[in-house]
Amino acid sequence: SHVIDIRHVRKTYRVGGQEIHALNDVNLSIEQGEFVAIMGPSGSGKSTIMNVLGCLDLPDSGEFYLDGYPVLGAKPYELALIRNRKIGFVFQKFHLLSRSTSLANVELPMIYAGMPARERKRRAAEALTHVGLGDRLKNKPNELSGGQQQRVSIARALVNDPVILLADEPTGALDSRTTVEIMDIFQRLNDQGITIVLVTHDAEVAACAKRLIYFRDGRIEKDERITPRRMTA
Ligand code: ADP
Ligand code: ADP
Repeated sequence: SHVIDIRHVRKTYRVGGQEIHALNDVNLSIEQGEFVAIMGPSGSGKSTIMNVLGCLDLPDSGEFYLDGYPVLGAKPYELALIRNRKIGFVFQKFHLLSRSTSLANVELPMIYAGMPARERKRRAAEALTHVGLGDRLKNKPNELSGGQQQRVSIARALVNDPVILLADEPTGALDSRTTVEIMDIFQRLNDQGITIVLVTHDAEVAACAKRLIYFRDGRIEKDERITPRRMTA
């Protein structure tokens, strides 16, 4: 079954008596193991679709199944559970707790999930080791490079074994060398079976994916399979 199944989804904002169709009849199915890049001009609906996929925002109409589960009609506490258990988020600006160590940052989603401390620490250390930060467990964000901070946030996103990893401009705050490093990690995770959807303005970042979707005026303008490139520094 599909990880994501979105049918005829609409999201309309009313601004000063005017209607803005942020999502205008969007259909989107994503299978396990896909690596999708979303591109499109500013205002085309990229953030809105990511917020819908992340269950941060509900569409006005249509259907949305996440891992077979009907998201529309779920109660707020159910949505919070879906977000915590089924979705991993990675952001442009990392959103790490600045006073907390890497280990504590990665433990956070497992605290929300009610996991015992020993198990939490073991899994957080394992996730950080997996992204190459096994020697940075006790460091706080300001003791880490931008690329290392983004790797902490990737470990945090993956630690509850989500069905999908959503990344909103994950390389937008990184220099080109670090962008290569982060895209290499995404490709490695996808090779291991992790389903990834990312939004980017960077065509070279998008070329690392296996499927490229262009949004325009709240609609999917183009949706194509591509042969993924490896980035080089
Ligand atoms: P993108 O991420 O591609 O830049 P968005 O999804 O943020 O596009 O926005 C799509 C459209 O919806 C734009 O016209 C934007 O101005 C509008 N929009 C988004 N969020 C809101 C909001 N909270 N209130 C009003 N209009 C919004
Ligand atoms: P920006 O592109 O301005 O840096 P971000 O990528 O930081 O924005 O955040 C993208 C969206 O995710 C925002 O709408 C923000 O409100 C939301 N967001 C930020 N942090 C979290 C979080 N920890 N959990 C869920 N949603 C978040």
